[in-house]
Amino acid sequence: MPDCIFCKIINKTIPADIVYEDDQMIAFRDINPKAKYHFLIIPKEHIPSVDEINEARIELVGSLIYRAKEMARKFGFAASGYKLVFNCGKDGGQIVDHIHLHLLGGEPLIGAV
Ligand code: 5GP
Ligand code: ZN
Repeated sequence: MPDCIFCKIINKTIPADIVYEDDQMIAFRDINPKAKYHFLIIPKEHIPSVDEINEARIELVGSLIYRAKEMARKFGFAASGYKLVFNCGKDGGQIVDHIHLHLLGGEPLIGAV
């Protein structure tokens, strides 16, 4: 999607601090971190939101969650816990219309949900 900022990060036409990449997905640091560690994990396929997940994509979404868990271990904050968030749509606070999983950790994040 030419106007999608996350597709531009995938295509490397705008920079990001990419910490993981494979055939299906990339993960990078959020530009405006809300925790000591704040990563965004996104599929390379342009899926606008959780609301667009269909049966063919269930495994892909599971892979995003699995990657989040692996990253929490890799960056050393899995043992103390972490938060995973999908914002969906306007009321959910979704700003970027390319599905993304927020991984937040490295400090207490109790209260929001
Ligand atoms: P949303 O509110 O859509 O769930 O979250 C979008 C997230 O993307 C926000 O936390 C915001 O800081 C992050 N973000 C927006 N634009 C950029 C960008 O150009 N680069 C990076 N690394 N993060 C971005
Ligand atoms: Zn996109």
